[in-house]
Amino acid sequence: MDSSEGAPHHETPTLGNPDLPLEGEINTADDTAATVMDGPQNRVIESQFPNQIDSPPTDISTQPFFWSSFNISPRRVQRGGWAREITSADFHISDEIAGVNMYLEPGGIRELHWHQTAEWAVMTKGRCRVTTLSRSGLPSVEDVEEGDLWFFPAGTPHSLQGLGPVGAEFVLAFDDGAQSESNTLLLTDWFAHTPPDVLAKNFGVAQEVFTDIPLHNLWIFPGDEPGELERDQDASGVTWGAAEPIIFRLSRSEPLHQNSGGSIQIADSTNFPLSNTVAAALVTVEPGSMRELHWHPNADEWQYYLRGSARMTVFNTGPHANTTDFRPGDVGVVKRNYGHYIENTGDDVLQFLEVFKADKYEEVSLANWLAHVPPSLVSAHLNIPEEVLATFPRGTQGITPRRTA
Ligand code: MN
Ligand code: MN
Repeated sequence: MDSSEGAPHHETPTLGNPDLPLEGEINTADDTAATVMDGPQNRVIESQFPNQIDSPPTDISTQPFFWSSFNISPRRVQRGGWAREITSADFHISDEIAGVNMYLEPGGIRELHWHQTAEWAVMTKGRCRVTTLSRSGLPSVEDVEEGDLWFFPAGTPHSLQGLGPVGAEFVLAFDDGAQSESNTLLLTDWFAHTPPDVLAKNFGVAQEVFTDIPLHNLWIFPGDEPGELERDQDASGVTWGAAEPIIFRLSRSEPLHQNSGGSIQIADSTNFPLSNTVAAALVTVEPGSMRELHWHPNADEWQYYLRGSARMTVFNTGPHANTTDFRPGDVGVVKRNYGHYIENTGDDVLQFLEVFKADKYEEVSLANWLAHVPPSLVSAHLNIPEEVLATFPRGTQGITPRRTA
């Protein structure tokens, strides 16, 4: 059948924006004055956002900004290391996940503490020693390196310590957008604010034992590099195989999708059982390729860009469609069920993390959907002949394969 029958007639075929009022540059071809922009501008910032300053003509309307960045976040610096964060107070739409970027020098200690939210983290540089005590009272002491994750359920006590030669840099995701790294329950605070006679009674020692405890919390402080991992494990009473694993080697895991365009590696409760409130995907996209058009039905997507450069368009009802640019250290948020793609815009590999407040990773691929409804139905919507639709991908690819020109 002729699939163009009954289709609306356009004098010149155009892409997108059939709606009124006319918006977007696709409508300004005969009105170039409409795009003049010569007021006060910061050319350096502008240069970082080519797809936002001069958006694709298919963009329409506006929506709450879905870009933020650790690059613009104030650093809290102390002897021993630093941290910077992006909470929902800074980044309004990020109400499911708060992010922290932290560095600990070799030996630098993030003091023993706990908090009301779960803590998921990915190592981005160096090595770190992690201690915890599980809810069933079982200790863990582990060393992690670049590409490894850890997960602490809410209320799990823990510490972090940078290891040589370069210390540890990592990104934390709390499963509550309002959680701040400056708002945690600290060991030194509790000691300083408990009557000494109560401390004495609790630990069965004399009050004088507590004469020299710090009166102000340490948060991050310098320390000596710890020795052999096995020695610390023995000293902490770690019994092999007893506690559920608190770490996961994401960058070494079997990909969910892999082809010439890149790969998607998953960490969620199916392969990392402890991580039952945070699911994550490590996405690698080769130059010229793209994270395909898709959405996530079960949670907002919190993104952290590790390397390369990208653009993403977020599509919502209205229609609203907006495109912006991402670089290393940037953070993006896509609300659940909003359509999106992430395209590698550079000559280098693009790598980013998708983090979800969910027990399992879930996505709906546009290509997979269209491959699994009657072709005549798709053809009736898009005016694309069925024989052409038959050349579309037959399932979820995750990443578009590299095209052989
Ligand atoms: Mn913590
Ligand atoms: Mn996504």
